[in-house]
Amino acid sequence: MQITRLRLLGFKSFVEPTELLIGPGLTGVVGPNGCGKSNLLEALRWVMGETSYKTMRASAMDDVIFAGTDKRPARNMAEVMVAVDNTKRTAPAAFNDADVLEISRRIQREAGSVYKVNGKEVRAKDVQILFADAATGARSQAMVQQGTIGQLINAKPQDRRRILEDAAGIAGLYTRRHEAELR
Ligand code: ATP
Ligand code: MG
Repeated sequence: MQITRLRLLGFKSFVEPTELLIGPGLTGVVGPNGCGKSNLLEALRWVMGETSYKTMRASAMDDVIFAGTDKRPARNMAEVMVAVDNTKRTAPAAFNDADVLEISRRIQREAGSVYKVNGKEVRAKDVQILFADAATGARSQAMVQQGTIGQLINAKPQDRRRILEDAAGIAGLYTRRHEAELR
């Protein structure tokens, strides 16, 4: 699964609409301290269905919305969109008729999040499964946060197993089984 674009609006420090085109191969993000490099990675995790505000360095999910500065008022809405190439048709059946999938998440103050795939409203679970199947996503080992290597070394065997399952590409099965059990 190739990510081709990332668009942010009102997300953390990205108050103005910001669009990044991501080409094949390695992409580096450079800039001075505090310019928003980590915020970008958090935006990517967030749109993939992150449910923990703590791992977003926030004290509530609404904190991902631009909080304002001396010169600019705060916003009431944040939106992140990620576009992925689906020409290889690897997406789950429900979304598998399009060459490009535009997955978006929008949050409104005190009203929670709404997810969409190509303009159609979907559940957070659908987005999480979509990325888990591609062995990526908010909780995958594809996103390495500061301190993660240290945690890995000290992890319990069960937690380490989850990393191997992720590498084997079967993490999506757990999300599906959990959902089947709820029915
Ligand atoms: P470093 O090189 O130190 O790791 P960085 O480029 O990763 O820096 P970030 O941590 O992504 O920087 O960005 C931090 C900036 O984002 C801070 O200036 C902080 O005030 C701003 N910020 C975070 N959340 C919000 C928000 N909700 N509203 C406005 N600004 C925010
Ligand atoms: Mg950083």
